[in-house]
Amino acid sequence: MSKQETPRPVRGTQDIFGADAEAFAFVVETFERVRKLYRFRRVEMPVFERTEVFARSLGETTDVVSKEMYSFEDRGGESLTLRPEFTAGIARAFLTEGWQQYAPLKVATHGPLFRYERPQKGRYRQFHQIDAELIGAAEPQADVELLAMADQLLEELGVADGVTLTLNTLGDGSSREAWRAALIEHFAGVRGELSEDSQERLEKNPLRILDSKDPRDKAFVADAPMIDEFLSAEAQDFFGAVTSGLDAAGIKWTRNPALVRGLDYYRHTAFEFVTDRLGAQGTVLGGGRYDGLMESLGGAPTPAVGWAAGIERLAMLLGQRGEAKLDVAVVPLGDAAASRGEGILAQLRRHGIVADMDYRGNMKKRMSRANSAGAAVAVILGDDELAKGVANIKDLVGGQQHEVPLGDLVDHAFGLLAKLGRR
Ligand code: ATP
Ligand code: MG
Repeated sequence: MSKQETPRPVRGTQDIFGADAEAFAFVVETFERVRKLYRFRRVEMPVFERTEVFARSLGETTDVVSKEMYSFEDRGGESLTLRPEFTAGIARAFLTEGWQQYAPLKVATHGPLFRYERPQKGRYRQFHQIDAELIGAAEPQADVELLAMADQLLEELGVADGVTLTLNTLGDGSSREAWRAALIEHFAGVRGELSEDSQERLEKNPLRILDSKDPRDKAFVADAPMIDEFLSAEAQDFFGAVTSGLDAAGIKWTRNPALVRGLDYYRHTAFEFVTDRLGAQGTVLGGGRYDGLMESLGGAPTPAVGWAAGIERLAMLLGQRGEAKLDVAVVPLGDAAASRGEGILAQLRRHGIVADMDYRGNMKKRMSRANSAGAAVAVILGDDELAKGVANIKDLVGGQQHEVPLGDLVDHAFGLLAKLGRR
């Protein structure tokens, strides 16, 4: 048989391994702990939905829908899309699964998302998010609660230093419309000097021009009309209640009047936690209020607010994390001992001790692998000792070794680990 070529991984996907995978897992574990503190209920969502779920929720003119979706026809001829975000699918489920009965509903999830983007550091085609949504609450306290949860998460991950909460309001429907008209007028005057993308956005999605990273647009963004001129009294009060809630909770924030979110469904509060430690991919967590979304999916008007954070970007801020250290290496001398070793290994592990036994190798090899794995204790099993019902237990830090009855092995292992500061 001729040697076959190995298929390459798909561009923009990642194979996460070792210390990077530990950092990834730490982000998810910390999120799980924090979401329970805030009583967000866990949901598991489908990885694909009918294409219209995203097209209608996010808006046809958004970058995600117009350029980034992985859409395909399945064998039944239906147009499906790999989820580019969680919110639209959760909103769909809220309507189709009768979750209205639980409102105000707090839910959280995590998993992979798919966007056809240009891959670079911190930007992938399959990436992963943690996500929190609060559906069926119009009160500004809901916004505050979500922001407090995000803030505590970053704190508990140990990445809060150098990450700033930036906040804006997009106003209610009518404020947003008035602002939109003023932005069109402003940018239409300089149309020819804008980037091609922004010229295209002008009529369809002028708010997005404010979000442009193109230097040609930035000069005109600086003197564009800001939302404050157009805010209704209600929208102003709402934003005031959110910011005073944050102050009361001791959460630091800064106002960024040019902050808009790329998707159509946002109203009132929009926010991002940003850092300058990740180069161009500086937004680690983003979200806001999406009071208009349920109607675009054919549901009754339902106020809601949520956020999502990129797990990879949070993991990059964390840096690598160590894998679990080996506590006890079981070292058998000979086949009979190896077979008894299986039982001892199982017993140690059932007691919560991190233990391993190599599949092969002589005593010297096994001891050297135990040392390089950072083992604190070795349990050495010879045929003669096993016949007497004992084993040797060795302190790999101090070097002392003594014989103990097999029945007392676990207690002795715990004693040694405690002495060595590993418990
Ligand atoms: P960006 O401006 O970086 O494209 P976004 O506004 O498109 O982000 P959201 O849709 O708000 O991002 O998603 C929330 C978070 O998910 C982002 O803040 C980021 O941490 C992460 N994220 C989004 N797209 C990607 C991607 N392609 N690769 C890795 N992480 C991503
Ligand atoms: Mg994006």
